[in-house]
Amino acid sequence: MPLEMQTALSALSGVGPKRAAALADRGIATVGDLLFNLPLHYQDWRARTPLAELKPATSAVVEGRLVELKERPMRGLRWRRMATGWLEGPGGERVRVVWFNLPAYMKGRMPGGERVVMHGRVNVASDGGLEIVHPEVYPLDSGEPPAVRPVYGLPSEIGQRVYAGLVTQALAALGGRIGGAMPAALRAQAGVMPLGEALRMLHQPPAGAEPAKLEAGDSAAHYALAFDEMFAFQLAMGIDRMRAARRTGARMDAPASLTARLLAALPFTPTRAQLRAIDEIGAGLARAHPMNRLLMGDVGSGKTLVALWAALRAAESGWQVAMMAPTELLAEQHYRSFTALCGALGMPAALLLGKTPPAERARTLRLLAAGAIPLVFGTHALIQEGVALKRLGLAVIDEQHRFGVFDRARLKALGPSAHVLLMTATPIPRSLALTLLANLDISALDELPPGRTPVVTEIFPETQIAKVDAIVRAELEAGRRAYYIVPLIEGAEDGDERLSVAATARRLGEGPLCGFKIGTLHGRMRPAEKERAMRGFRDGALEVLVSTTVVEVGIDVPEASAIVVIAAERYGLAQLHQLRGRVGRGAAASRCCLVVSREDDARAHTRLGVMVRATSGAEVARADLELRGPGDLLGARQSGALPLRFAGFIRDGRLIEQARALAEIWLKRDPPLELPESAGARVALLRMLDFGFSLGDIG
Ligand code: ADP
Ligand code: MG
Repeated sequence: MPLEMQTALSALSGVGPKRAAALADRGIATVGDLLFNLPLHYQDWRARTPLAELKPATSAVVEGRLVELKERPMRGLRWRRMATGWLEGPGGERVRVVWFNLPAYMKGRMPGGERVVMHGRVNVASDGGLEIVHPEVYPLDSGEPPAVRPVYGLPSEIGQRVYAGLVTQALAALGGRIGGAMPAALRAQAGVMPLGEALRMLHQPPAGAEPAKLEAGDSAAHYALAFDEMFAFQLAMGIDRMRAARRTGARMDAPASLTARLLAALPFTPTRAQLRAIDEIGAGLARAHPMNRLLMGDVGSGKTLVALWAALRAAESGWQVAMMAPTELLAEQHYRSFTALCGALGMPAALLLGKTPPAERARTLRLLAAGAIPLVFGTHALIQEGVALKRLGLAVIDEQHRFGVFDRARLKALGPSAHVLLMTATPIPRSLALTLLANLDISALDELPPGRTPVVTEIFPETQIAKVDAIVRAELEAGRRAYYIVPLIEGAEDGDERLSVAATARRLGEGPLCGFKIGTLHGRMRPAEKERAMRGFRDGALEVLVSTTVVEVGIDVPEASAIVVIAAERYGLAQLHQLRGRVGRGAAASRCCLVVSREDDARAHTRLGVMVRATSGAEVARADLELRGPGDLLGARQSGALPLRFAGFIRDGRLIEQARALAEIWLKRDPPLELPESAGARVALLRMLDFGFSLGDIG
């Protein structure tokens, strides 16, 4: 049987059960997985360092004669054999070479004196001299080694050479037949190299290849992978749009009795943006096709009200609504907002959380299945076994980027004709959203409720932390609250003790904020403890909350007026904006202090400078797009959320538009994808569907 991309790896020679299992653990099960697992690094074997110029704690490529190679058992570890030798340069200069287990390919083949080139780490040996530890060796008698050598991220059972050998086998057997998703004619038209050629370039870089560019994902081959994948993605979106137009949705066109009362009785005046979103959503819900809409609104823009309006609209039309949030606190907050705003309207609602007691849970599930409760708020608990709704008409997902595609699909599966409303505070720049999320309608809340003063953001070097603490102290003395965000839970091995929750809380309590009530919050606390901290801060029992970024999502404490982000250079702009959104929710002017640990980091300063100038999420997103390019943005933002492996290689948004245009052309020519030229497209599409990507549940 000829090798195909779907063939299991065990079909390759050299892959027994042990290696197959080790690779499968890394998600590499088929020949296709093998080839699409791209090298992490590229070593340049051309630039050779003279032995006299070796420096400790670097990696180097060196050339010479390998002499006096000896193997002996290691003391105490009889089954391991240590090997040592010397690499001798043209002038007789020598460097020691050590292996703690001679690689199999070296066994018995270097009797001594062979000319080699090797790559390895240079260390200081116990006698003070330099040594090269566990180098990779190529004998020069049989010709030059490849100029640029790929390095893969591999399980310890699989050596780099073994992996490269498997890739060689696979490419030899099917290199010419790797077609990709794009039909050849379209591909040629777009000037994209064939996928097989691209994979060969990435695994076996040609002599003139530039390692730095390869490593940065910046090559024609990377472009081809990203383009081909984006083409398949756009096909999926196109097909999805065609399907959606045929599906019938839960039509919600009952008279607006309760929703009208909700708007009339609000304790505040809705913003124009909120009213516009409400109109758009109302129109979508009234149509015969299921709505699939993303509600994008900056932190504090009042998305909850819009969602509650939509929920009530569905309920008053006789449908059920499920609203899912990523944390218990947030789900409870929704439930409470609902009770506060809609309690008087007599519409029953339930709350379903992981911690809901079994008896109560059973009762709620029974009522939901019977259609007796129209509204349910909850967490992941909503998509567990046993949850069924009689007439789900609307699924709302808050902080949707916190959920995976599967979660969203599972919620939707509770009601095949349900409308979907996704909410996010991390805006995707509109231009990008329109091409990428083409099967989503977008409503944007581009206006904050009145009376909010924009948060003043400033950057401070770590040396001025006392100044920052004084700013916070003044806020606390005025009766307000403050957050400190730090990157570590404890003084972990990888970091500085001062950057931890515990140490920061101690430092503040013993000195600058002595006398104020300080609490801590981090991801490793038990849920009950976390809640106690959050609740304490919300209700004022705590005045300072020292936390990791777990505090990022959705939490609404209007009294908080200062947020300090320690080691701010570690965070992305979108995340910083989310964090900053924890303050500025009340009437008091709020401050955000970004403390940078590394003053010399110019890139970090440019990035953080954006936060000082840009106050809205949309501005931050635009600046982010300019600084990082769409690929980086997509890669970070959507990792796991979209079935895209190579989006990180996209450097220019035009790729997305071009791929979309070609996908549309192709779908017009062959809507069911049954032409022979569509075979590759079909396979790629199946992969997307396999991933759980279907029915447009992305955002
Ligand atoms: P987000 O969009 O971040 O989810 P929320 O829905 O939590 O924002 O709203 C933030 C705060 O603003 C809440 O306390 C909410 O009651 C309040 N709010 C919402 N809309 C308005 C408005 N139009 N006028 C005044 N306050 C509002
Ligand atoms: Mg919210």
